[in-house]
Amino acid sequence: MRTMIKQRGKISTGNKTNPQIRTSSCTRCGVCCKKGGPSIHFEDRELIEKGNIPLKYLFTIRQHEPSFDNIKKIIEPAKTDIIKIKNKKNSHECIFFDPDHSGCQIYPDRPVECRKLKCWDTKDILSFYDTTRISRKELILSIDELWSLVQNHQGQCSYQKVAALAGQIKENKNNHGALQKLNNIIQFDSCLRQLIIEKNPMISEMLEFLFGRPLILTISLYGLTQKQSSYVIE
Ligand code: SF4
Repeated sequence: MRTMIKQRGKISTGNKTNPQIRTSSCTRCGVCCKKGGPSIHFEDRELIEKGNIPLKYLFTIRQHEPSFDNIKKIIEPAKTDIIKIKNKKNSHECIFFDPDHSGCQIYPDRPVECRKLKCWDTKDILSFYDTTRISRKELILSIDELWSLVQNHQGQCSYQKVAALAGQIKENKNNHGALQKLNNIIQFDSCLRQLIIEKNPMISEMLEFLFGRPLILTISLYGLTQKQSSYVIE
């Protein structure tokens, strides 16, 4: 399968201690920040609510979306929403990493994963990384306009629906009913994003947080690709 998978975690070792790293404190070398932005947890809620980390710098791996678990080294559907800090365009570097100063631009307000990650001893982060993850609902339930948009999109475009239809198409590539339904879902996802870009530039900055990555891209995770106006098995 072609992978367009965002890394779910940025921790790349399964070892609890790393003998190759000769330090016992953070030297702010930036190596961990070059492996991708962290996931957001309940402990970070205040940072988001106070605007220290604006929503436009976050993206969502939606519940049930296939994603790569960098610890288990497997691709599996996400059990919950996973909210992460974006990487820079075409790069694995966290968007807040400043390469000129090998530093974090939000260091005093960095998320809990970054605080727990000690490259010389990873036991804290390994026992923590997949716990207390916060969801979109918990972050924006009180903002009616945003939460109803997310609910509407999720109702139409859940990854459970996408996975079921992709499975039917794989079983029978001539299943026109399933192909049509999948096309409708992908079109809904694209049209909603386009509409928001045209009508509400403020919210359009948050599209990847509100709706995750566009389905037109992530459909390839199911081994499907677009041909003319429909989808076929790769
Ligand atoms: S938030 Fe800061 S410390 Fe955490 S990965 Fe990004 S640049 Fe590094």
